Amino acid sequence: MSSSGTYSLMVHGGAGALDNVKDDKTAFRYLDSIRTVLEHGRQVMELGGSALQAVEACAMLLEDDPVFNAGCGSVLNENGKVELDAAIMDGRDLAAGAVAAVDNIANPVQLARLVMTESEHVMLIAEGAMRFADHCGMERVPEDYFYTPDRVEQLRMARLRHKVMLDHDDSEIDSEDQKYGTIGAVARDSQGNLAAATSTGGIVNKRMGRVGDSPIVGAGVYADNETCAVSATGFGEDFMRSVIAKTISDFMLMQGMDGIKASAAGIEYFKRKVNGRGGVIVIDNAGNCAGDFTTKKMIHGWIEKGGQAYCRF
Ligand code: ASP
Repeated sequence: MSSSGTYSLMVHGGAGALDNVKDDKTAFRYLDSIRTVLEHGRQVMELGGSALQAVEACAMLLEDDPVFNAGCGSVLNENGKVELDAAIMDGRDLAAGAVAAVDNIANPVQLARLVMTESEHVMLIAEGAMRFADHCGMERVPEDYFYTPDRVEQLRMARLRHKVMLDHDDSEIDSEDQKYGTIGAVARDSQGNLAAATSTGGIVNKRMGRVGDSPIVGAGVYADNETCAVSATGFGEDFMRSVIAKTISDFMLMQGMDGIKASAAGIEYFKRKVNGRGGVIVIDNAGNCAGDFTTKKMIHGWIEKGGQAYCRF
């Protein structure tokens, strides 16, 4: 089958050392979730859904799964609260929507999509984003919806150490032994349209008001039908400084690379310029899938050109 008539889909559930995945049962828990999400995305695409619909549906499922640092199960900030960031982008016309520092919203990616489709803006933050959610009739969920015992314990450890920490490992920010549990999805549908979505709780014990890369177009998320769709996970400040998602797209646009080469070149740049910690998933305009990272591992999975689903760390 020619690639123009097929769909491709990739999702991630965070990058890092993943030293917390010490046994088969834990590994299975992550990979099983990734596989379920991929198969759900496959259904969306096979029923004629667009890349945009597929990435939103996949991101929402990942947000709903408490093992990932997005939606339910998000990490807590310095005040013991969740502040969620998310973005979605449509490669057809570079339309984008993003929210930052929101709470009480179960699926921030859905709110990001409403910002894209129902407002004249690209990003809304904090109280303004919440008012927009009310305006759109989105349900507010109670604060305790987001809390898991692991996250409360993780914040306690971070406070004891007076450290900012990433996701649910107990190691410190400068350590290699981190897991950055943001979630993301990228897709190319059978019409050749690309889309990307990223959603996160950010980093543990972060300052109130801190915004990472995930909702920033060109840093943690990007999609352009002419090139590729990208979603990132890792230390947000590194991605923001290297504008990595757009950099990968530019490698395709300006140097004629395919997505596989552009992803590798982007991650090499990320490492060389800012000693970046994290990874990306990329689908290019021909449906090729690529996943590259500087951390020891990245939880991710893919369906390339309508084929079998693969999941790995
Ligand atoms: N990139 C996210 C942030 O810095 C964290 C993550 O990927 O887990 O907010």
